[in-house]
Amino acid sequence: MTMARGLPRARLGASALTLAACALAGCDGGSPTDDAATASLDAARIEADAPGLDAPGLDAHGSDDAALAPDAATSGEIVELGEAVTESSGSAGELDVAVTITDQRSFMVVATSENASRLSVLSITDPSGATVLRWQDWWDAPHFLTGAIFTERTGTTINWPIRAEDPPLEPGTYLVRIGSYRVDGVTSRPDIDVTHTTITNRDHDLADGVVHVAIVWAQGMSDDAALVDATARAVDHWNEVWGGVGMHVEVRYVESTIDPALPEPSAMSGDVLLAASSLVMPGEVAMIVGETIAGGTSLYGVAGHIPGPIVPSPLGAIVVGWLSNAGGDGVFSDADLTLYGEVLAHEVGHFVGLTHPVERSYEMWDALTDTPECSDAASCEASLGTNLMFPYSICDADSCVSTTILTDQQRGVMQRYTGTR
Ligand SMILES: [Zn+2]
Repeated sequence: MTMARGLPRARLGASALTLAACALAGCDGGSPTDDAATASLDAARIEADAPGLDAPGLDAHGSDDAALAPDAATSGEIVELGEAVTESSGSAGELDVAVTITDQRSFMVVATSENASRLSVLSITDPSGATVLRWQDWWDAPHFLTGAIFTERTGTTINWPIRAEDPPLEPGTYLVRIGSYRVDGVTSRPDIDVTHTTITNRDHDLADGVVHVAIVWAQGMSDDAALVDATARAVDHWNEVWGGVGMHVEVRYVESTIDPALPEPSAMSGDVLLAASSLVMPGEVAMIVGETIAGGTSLYGVAGHIPGPIVPSPLGAIVVGWLSNAGGDGVFSDADLTLYGEVLAHEVGHFVGLTHPVERSYEMWDALTDTPECSDAASCEASLGTNLMFPYSICDADSCVSTTILTDQQRGVMQRYTGTR
């Protein structure tokens, strides 16, 4: 990928600093969620080379087993899906999405550019007119709150509130301001059609939560009985890990004809993520299991965005390459299964809003106060190496350190995700 994170126009002068921060955050590959869960610490990143993506052939009947899908996804009981609305970003290159709140706990706004312009969230104002999120507070910060403020993708997704310390929703109208930019991510691009969808959630139980995930098999993957079995066992372990903070995942499986050589999520690979997210039910998290990511096995998995959308979107899936999870020999050992389950738990952890507690630069941290702020490999591995969201695997020849820890504030983020019911 050659695309670097850019700046909204007002911050052009600060580019050197913020681009450095971007590289530290691992978003130079086109996504703030580029996962550092690489197969080894010093594995060279294999860059996705902007493929002229064939739109993957969609399995028109990929939702044949929709009867097994969560009925709450579209029932309006807990998670309510608004209509998709298309409107122009106007002469200012900005538009306000109004979100009406009565008694809901959380909302999500998913926006997609109609012509591959870059979109980002600039601010959120609450019903009193107070600004509760502004991009300027987080762009240069050494703490990563949300991927929504960055202008590198052809869409954006914001979940609000994000943390326990963010103000709970109040009845009234919130305004989510979205900006449209050229591919450089810097230059405002006015008069762009933006399609946006608002999802709200009225589950006020922040102690327990369920996320519905549809695992989308890339073409041919479900013919591999060993992979199917390993994935089911990995999901069991994932539930053990998430269960520590009252989170549970319900998984179903969907067939597809998506190429098992998966791309890394980026502005260039949105078609694949859109295809996968279009095969699942609204309200579900889409996760593609294929063979490889970006042509190699240095990545276990990559989330499409932090947070991830639960309606069709070019940000709307997680990619997982099974070969790297099987440890390179193509056979899942018990240690591999533990790792695989923790990779799934980690990547969907990103999708529900979690960032790494520390990035591999050791100079950028999450926006939570109960994960230590370490600043070198030794201290970070000692203090955070067992946290589920640690950015890389700590492995010896036989196995990797198990990452099963989630903190109270990480739980708070997961429980406030609009897809958590
Ligand atoms: Zn990660």
